Amino acid sequence: MKLRILVTAGDGIGPEVTSEAVAVLKEIAALGGHDFTFSEKRIGGVAIVADGTPLPKDTLDAALASDAVLLGAVGGNEFNSLAPDKRPEGGLLAIRAALGGFANLRPCFSFKELTVNSPLRQEVIEGTDILFVRELLGGAYFGRPREWNKEKNVGHNTMVYSKDEVTRVARVAFELAQKRRKKVTSVDKANVLEVSQLWRAAVTEVAKEFPDVALEHQYIDAMAMHIMNRPRDFDVVVTENLFGDILTDESGVITGSLGMLPSATIGGKVNLYEPVHGSAPDIAGKGLANPLGAILTGALILRHSGGLEAEAAAVEASVRKVLELGFRTTDLARGQKQGVTVLSTTEMGTKVRDTVKEQLLAVSR
Ligand code: NAD
Repeated sequence: MKLRILVTAGDGIGPEVTSEAVAVLKEIAALGGHDFTFSEKRIGGVAIVADGTPLPKDTLDAALASDAVLLGAVGGNEFNSLAPDKRPEGGLLAIRAALGGFANLRPCFSFKELTVNSPLRQEVIEGTDILFVRELLGGAYFGRPREWNKEKNVGHNTMVYSKDEVTRVARVAFELAQKRRKKVTSVDKANVLEVSQLWRAAVTEVAKEFPDVALEHQYIDAMAMHIMNRPRDFDVVVTENLFGDILTDESGVITGSLGMLPSATIGGKVNLYEPVHGSAPDIAGKGLANPLGAILTGALILRHSGGLEAEAAAVEASVRKVLELGFRTTDLARGQKQGVTVLSTTEMGTKVRDTVKEQLLAVSR
């Protein structure tokens, strides 16, 4: 398998965590004889300082010429006084828009060893494995008209979807469900919103193409509760932009640490992969960053850009194994100092890499 991966490490802990993810991907390429090439470009604050813009043209050109983009994180307090589009985060929004991905995948899972890090009860969350598919280019965040009319003291936004926009993201959800536990939960507010009635009708129509996948509909308000009460009941959850934004953050508490969460945005010209966390300037450069979210993001590259399911699963299993053996980064060790070994960012990356190697060599023997 040939993959050209552009790494835009960005700011703060971005370079620390992406380098660990790249090291794991290189190990997999070496073991499997895959041809992965990596190039690096600037984005965010480092690009503002060096190039005067958060998304330099050569970064965007390189992204469009690659098979996958791995982005670390952007942002830093020193840029907070700049106008929104000139800030590091402006670069992130611009690259997302240019690559055009409409389906944002956010896995939500619990790790047995980390259930103590979650405020939720272990018996409720253990075994959770949800894949959220959030529509990313439509809905209230982009709909027009939109306005805050300060004279009249009135504000409004427009939640708008076309049938085609719903159909394409629903298909992604059903295709992914076919490779998992074959259940799709579509989340809307069809008892109140016409746009949700269109959403529900379009998803129901797509479901007919996938007779092997069960479809259920949930209202967003009820779903916010179900996710907390019975998260194990859900497999693939598809929803619109605003509902997905809220639901995926809510579900993050199941995993117990921001540093564990990967994401992928697919369906556009080039897939974009990012850990969910930000640049964490408070811990940057101290070897305290948890690289597991970035490494799990690497697993998503293998699965969604490389079609390398066994290798992706080996990375995920290795993360589980390392946690089972009691290895933690500082953020994961909080509240469980007994019987765990606290590792630096690079030590944790090395542990996962060594475990991936063992796993893949064992399979090939
Ligand atoms: P953050 O995610 O950077 O950090 C929140 C808290 O979680 C901090 O205490 C941080 O130390 C901790 N944390 C985050 N990732 C961690 C990891 N991998 N290992 C260990 N601890 C981790 O969010 P924030 O503090 O709100 O934002 C910091 C900067 O990041 C801001 O400039 C913000 O705009 C930016 N940001 C960028 C992205 C992105 O690039 N996708 C996302 C969110 C925030």
